[in-house]
Amino acid sequence: MTGAGGTPPSVVFGPVPSRRLGRSMGINNIPSKHCSYSCVYCQVGRTTNMSVTRRVFYDPDSILRELTEKLDEVRAGGDAVDYVTVVPDGEPTLDINLGRLLDGINSTGVPSAVISNSSLITYPDVREELMRSSWVSLKADGVRTEVWKAVDRPHGALRLENILEGIMEFSRDHSGRLVTETMLVEGMNTGTRDLEALADFLAKVGPATVYLSVPSRPPAEPGIGPPSTETLNRAYQILASRLENVEYLTGYEGEDFSRSGELVAGLLSILAVHPMRESAVLRYLSDVKDPEAKLGELVRDGLVGREVHLGEVYYLLRPPASSDGSGG
Ligand code: SF4
Repeated sequence: MTGAGGTPPSVVFGPVPSRRLGRSMGINNIPSKHCSYSCVYCQVGRTTNMSVTRRVFYDPDSILRELTEKLDEVRAGGDAVDYVTVVPDGEPTLDINLGRLLDGINSTGVPSAVISNSSLITYPDVREELMRSSWVSLKADGVRTEVWKAVDRPHGALRLENILEGIMEFSRDHSGRLVTETMLVEGMNTGTRDLEALADFLAKVGPATVYLSVPSRPPAEPGIGPPSTETLNRAYQILASRLENVEYLTGYEGEDFSRSGELVAGLLSILAVHPMRESAVLRYLSDVKDPEAKLGELVRDGLVGREVHLGEVYYLLRPPASSDGSGG
């Protein structure tokens, strides 16, 4: 990482298949893992740099140069890009240059998207900058402080009531597509009363779509898993009784990860934010002589970790949940 706006490592990745955004070119604008939350289900591990202070991380002009090069490369290869999504392995609004970054993305002609945990939406400058993106996803895992603290494990300076107010305010002013995302974690935020309260709040916000997801990729903490089918059905019924567009994000997004730039560097930049199934990694490496041997080498060299979650083998850039990693 660089500390004061210097040249970033490769932070533009993909395009990757996205269940919500089609073919999404990603930008990881935050060094690993700076976040205001340390969610129990986080697929990129426990938070090692907990913060609510916006600051400079990378030089936005360097990121935008890399983006332009990769967009040219991808277009020349005949691949499509539907969105450029700011989706780091941390909280994107911690980047004080987010507004400049979004302006630059928008000027490429590809619409920008941001996936945020909502925590800094209380800051007027964050709301103003997010306004520049035509597609914004805000996290809403619970509207009761106890639940929010248990699931998202927020920075101590944050207050849920202020965040909920900030979401309401943003929803009134944002002219683009605002969606919300709720991760349902068995036994933590799936009680009937909690879901009803969440539905009431979201009905006031009026998102274009309320996405429900489950911890389908390896979580930060052991023992965190998706709710039972019965719970998922109940959650859907409760939310859909008050809201029009409720969708589950439980389908597999597919394995069509585009290669851009140097092969291994490209793979690592995706894995930094997005653990991949073994079959997807092997497909990504299919141009090398022996993809399985190459993958084994990356694991042996400690560049890539391997973890089994819900019977599926995943490759990722962090220590497995069962290890005593730092942070959180
Ligand atoms: S899931 Fe998102 S908000 Fe939660 S700890 Fe991970 S990066 Fe931060």
